[in-house]
Amino acid sequence: MSAATLSLDIESIRREFPVLSQEIQGRPLVYLDNAATTHTPESVLAVIRDYYERYNSNIHRGTHRLSQLATAEHEKARTRIAEHLGAAADREVIFTSGCTDSINLVANVLGQSGSIGEGDTILVSELDHHSNIVPWQMLAERVGASVLPIPVTDAGEIDMAAYTELLDSRTKVVAINHISNALGTINPVLEITRLAKEQGAWVLIDGAQSIPHLEIDVQAIGCDFYAFSGHKVYG
Ligand code: PMP
Repeated sequence: MSAATLSLDIESIRREFPVLSQEIQGRPLVYLDNAATTHTPESVLAVIRDYYERYNSNIHRGTHRLSQLATAEHEKARTRIAEHLGAAADREVIFTSGCTDSINLVANVLGQSGSIGEGDTILVSELDHHSNIVPWQMLAERVGASVLPIPVTDAGEIDMAAYTELLDSRTKVVAINHISNALGTINPVLEITRLAKEQGAWVLIDGAQSIPHLEIDVQAIGCDFYAFSGHKVYG
């Protein structure tokens, strides 16, 4: 849909977000930092409030009524997220504190399981966020591997020819964002994953910026891990 035909009922969208009902310096608040974190709409606030008012308790631990309710709701959320992402099974959805935590978890597990070792390489792009660079640098340092940057063209796109050159049998991980937080570039993650899989590499897609904007189908992408943060998608 082009910008000219895009028609949004801005006032009704604004009403969904209580934070926007305030004025700052005598004017209605306009919030443009959603790429950093989104505000919480009424629909989400209502669910959080309902949880604390009716069934706040530990999940998967208690036998009492509230714990059973909390567990059921928690698992319902897992199912909805799995369906939203096109995951093959609910158990593929793992809740963490956010995207950075997820990437660290994957990096640590790959390290501890011996999936990467001395002389191996990890490819990240020059367009990646610190959250998708530092965990790999720490892993590489621990196991004697190297992190190699995939270059970006002057147009702000992944240099696919350079990427293909970097890929070889030593490549154990390709970790790349789906949409760049710096430029908004949408990376060709299907092709990037396909090429990485030809070398048998693990593929992690950092979906922090894509999850609010694109329809994601993790099976179509073919990646091993798709990481994102709830707080960037109204959670
Ligand atoms: N990756 C990208 C592309 C991001 O934009 C961000 C947040 N700016 C992160 C990772 C980190 O997300 P979080 O701080 O929620 O862990």
